[in-house]
Amino acid sequence: MTFTCPDIPDHEGFAAPVLPTGEPAPSASAFTKTFVGYQAACSCGWTDQRRFPATPEGTKEAEYRWWSRHAAPLLAAAPPAELVTRSNLLCERIVTLAAERPLAALTLLSQMEGWQRTLLEHAVAGAREAGASWAQVGAAMGISKQSAHERFSAHVSA
Ligand SMILES: [Zn+2]
Repeated sequence: MTFTCPDIPDHEGFAAPVLPTGEPAPSASAFTKTFVGYQAACSCGWTDQRRFPATPEGTKEAEYRWWSRHAAPLLAAAPPAELVTRSNLLCERIVTLAAERPLAALTLLSQMEGWQRTLLEHAVAGAREAGASWAQVGAAMGISKQSAHERFSAHVSA
């Protein structure tokens, strides 16, 4: 059995049977009769070191471990797939608009720049208030923690 979440489509969690060598099996379907327990694992290659018993309860514990240690932190920084799709579509439409009516695209992009900056500062403040570190804020934006701090620390408290 595997676990997925639509907003992190590249991650499929599973309870990997641990082989007698101590290595987790490469996938949930690579079942072996001789295994000594379960470890949480993910299709992206992530594995957890903690071993759970070779019982049905052990699989549940490993699956919860995948969720709590791997999926939940990723999900915290993953925008809803539906909004990513809309954002990509908007970008494509603006590229077309810029080719056909560049002044109209300029007007629209200037309006977006105004609310984008405000929303960005609001989101950074919200993340900081929720306990996110500058490293986490930077990682969510694809920049370093130093860059995130330099850019936003004057705009948010704490
Ligand atoms: Zn993963």
